[in-house]
Amino acid sequence: MAVVIVVGVQWGDEGKGKIVDLLTEKARLVVRWAGGANAGHTLVVDGKKYVTRLIPSGVLREGVTCVLGEGMVIDPAVLVDEIRTFKAQGFIAAGRDLVVAERAHLTLPHHLEIDRLREERPGGIGTTKKGIGPSYESKAARVGVRVGDLLRPDRFRARVEALTTALAPYIRELGGSAPSVAEVTKKYLALGEELRPFVGDASRIVHDAVVRRDNVLFEGAQGVMLDIDHGTYPFVTSSSTTAGGACAGLGIGPTKIDRVLGVAKGYATRVGAGPFPTELNEEVGELLRKRGNEFGSVTGRPRRCGWMDVAAVRLAIRLSGIEAIALTKLDVMAGLDRVRLCVGYRLGGKTLDEMPVDLDDLAAAEPIFEELPGWPELAGSSIPPAAAGFVERVSALTGIPVWATSWGAGRLQTIVTQDPFSAS
Ligand code: GDP
Repeated sequence: MAVVIVVGVQWGDEGKGKIVDLLTEKARLVVRWAGGANAGHTLVVDGKKYVTRLIPSGVLREGVTCVLGEGMVIDPAVLVDEIRTFKAQGFIAAGRDLVVAERAHLTLPHHLEIDRLREERPGGIGTTKKGIGPSYESKAARVGVRVGDLLRPDRFRARVEALTTALAPYIRELGGSAPSVAEVTKKYLALGEELRPFVGDASRIVHDAVVRRDNVLFEGAQGVMLDIDHGTYPFVTSSSTTAGGACAGLGIGPTKIDRVLGVAKGYATRVGAGPFPTELNEEVGELLRKRGNEFGSVTGRPRRCGWMDVAAVRLAIRLSGIEAIALTKLDVMAGLDRVRLCVGYRLGGKTLDEMPVDLDDLAAAEPIFEELPGWPELAGSSIPPAAAGFVERVSALTGIPVWATSWGAGRLQTIVTQDPFSAS
């Protein structure tokens, strides 16, 4: 298996958690490289549901070390809560089960307050209000506070003071008030003590595992279409969601990566504002939302539903060098008479094979749809012929193999047709 990156190829919520959990059977390390507590996964194992916020999906496997990489922004209150919850359920039993990068940045109350205040104003982009964007802003402005600072009380206090000085005028301008330095210091140093056994040099730990030829799985958060550089800006997340982001986020050279896999849903969803040309605003959209339980795992917000946009998937495949994909939630589409795929766009007399990312172009572009027959529920272990036709069509249109299809949230509700590590 070696070193594998898994990314969502749409707008997040593709069911990466389930697919990564399946793949972690063979992994020693499961690593997250970007984002923060805005990227929950839902895992269903033996009928029991587990929700992760910051910790990668490998948490349920014995012998797997979960790594929160340097490129992430970490809310210590959320992480401590998550660690306590998983510990109480018998996971994260040993210190080596979890590594938190000492150079990752912190999400502090200042960032939560800014995110909340901005989203309450007109023009909010529909963030998860978990403080992620503002945390990355502080990082880029060089006023951020890092995980390692939590373990050095004097330095932490000084960094929180500097952060507060930098952000207080802006928070006041937004109509709020900056958190108290004394209160933040007291509360977060206590959280830091709980995190101390896990804090380390994540980059070196991952590097050493790669050199040992351990199986290492990089788990993407959100989806490639939400990438800060390559997505539909400004309706994007604040970090790199492409496979290349994994190298930057962990400080691992691209030459060390063996394989890049993608996860796509058989339809598409998007949370928050932003263009979504294949959106279904009628009955079928409502049906997919209900049957697919398309409500944010972090915020509970209803997700917008639409047909699968193969032109967007193609773009994601190119941006991340994806070599094979898993298609999830085909059970949710079962029972539809006909299903559709957006296979390209028409814009200004031209046909585009990739989704345009410029907002004006995207608004003006007309999706080109192809219609295929729908399929019934899965009976037994073989894919209904019409669903197999859909899968083949997706594979032909994207130019890469579909190595697995998913027919439910459980580990066993998966049909693997190819070894993802040999598919090409
Ligand atoms: P992620 O962030 O990409 O991991 O996606 P989420 O976990 O937020 O959302 C995926 C949801 O779909 C979770 O509740 C999964 O348990 C569920 N899920 C994953 N694969 C399937 C599938 O094939 N069918 C159904 N019905 N649910 C699935």
